[in-house]
Amino acid sequence: MRELVGLSFPEIQKIMADIGEKPFRAKQLWQWMYNKGVADFDVMTTFSKPLREKLKESFLISHPKIVTEQNSSDKTRKWLMEFQDGAKVECVYIPEADRGAVCISTQVGCAQGCRFCHTGTQKFMRNLTAGEIVGQFMAARDSYGEWPTPTDETRYLSNIVVMGMGEPLYNFDNLKTAVQILMDGDGISISKRKITVSTCGVADKIPALADLGVKLAVSLHAPNDEIRNQIMPVNKKFPLKVLMEACAEYQKKVEHRQFITMEYVMLKGVNDRPEHAQELIELTKGLEVKFNLIPFHAWDGAPFEPSSQNAIHRFSKILEDHYIAAPIRRSRGEDIMAACGQLKSEHEKKS
Ligand code: SAH
Ligand code: SF4
Repeated sequence: MRELVGLSFPEIQKIMADIGEKPFRAKQLWQWMYNKGVADFDVMTTFSKPLREKLKESFLISHPKIVTEQNSSDKTRKWLMEFQDGAKVECVYIPEADRGAVCISTQVGCAQGCRFCHTGTQKFMRNLTAGEIVGQFMAARDSYGEWPTPTDETRYLSNIVVMGMGEPLYNFDNLKTAVQILMDGDGISISKRKITVSTCGVADKIPALADLGVKLAVSLHAPNDEIRNQIMPVNKKFPLKVLMEACAEYQKKVEHRQFITMEYVMLKGVNDRPEHAQELIELTKGLEVKFNLIPFHAWDGAPFEPSSQNAIHRFSKILEDHYIAAPIRRSRGEDIMAACGQLKSEHEKKS
């Protein structure tokens, strides 16, 4: 049996041609899968019974299975999703007033080992396929019943942030195919301006994100190599100078000189001093950036503590005095452990 979710449109065209169907059937199948969210061939009423039977014999359309769903008091919804081989990842919906972002994963576990990140303590298992990456968003739409694809203005699940488990740029080919499927106007139809990819700093792949047209978020978290080397092993391979050059190249290539979001988790006594904010201003000179100051989400056994509210506000003010936006991110879904990696570990402890 061959999985259809995650194949590119030309691949779907080829499959339909190979079983002797006219080209327009490929477009119909695509729309059933990605515009209507249908996973059952029997529901595809524009196809004859024999064609449906033929498809059923050789192909599958799978959305990941939802193992657990938790709803936070602030309306954040978090799922643990399971794929065909039993591998599980987390996926979160984070609402803002009348819209919101679905946060999706790209790997099972993560090999990067950032010291503040709970996912970094879990073993890296494997990359997700393009179908599994797209599938998370489809399962989120299933959960909210948001099919067929609503118009851009009326949809609740309006944005995608690739900020779940794993490092997306170390699974670049599958990410790319997935993003192309998610953006397709005949299907899921999320525009490239509403998709953000977050990386820990895999510099050599960053400029390629400009070709995809998606927004870039960088998990910066440190103002200099000395601190960054201590908390993010990836910095040894791609030090800050190389990372900043890659960001500049992305910004040069991407349409509308899209600003870059710098994620910065505030770690008490590590990266939260006023002089660190000054260093960041120097470091990001020449780039159009916005900082997202993230209160550290503590977990059992974490080697860091969250910065004080005072320290975070002081830090934000220094950046903003230099005309760099630096909002302090509200922590969402605390009561359901919506921080990266925690639900999955909790599930594994229980089983
Ligand atoms: N691997 C990618 C994307 C997933 S991580 C990356 O690192 O960018 C998503 C974001 O959550 C990153 O900015 C990460 O640094 C941050 N994060 C991880 N652990 C955290 C914690 N305990 N508290 C707050 N933010 C955390
Ligand atoms: Fe991996 Fe990102 Fe966590 Fe680092 S912050 S361990 S890259 S998921």
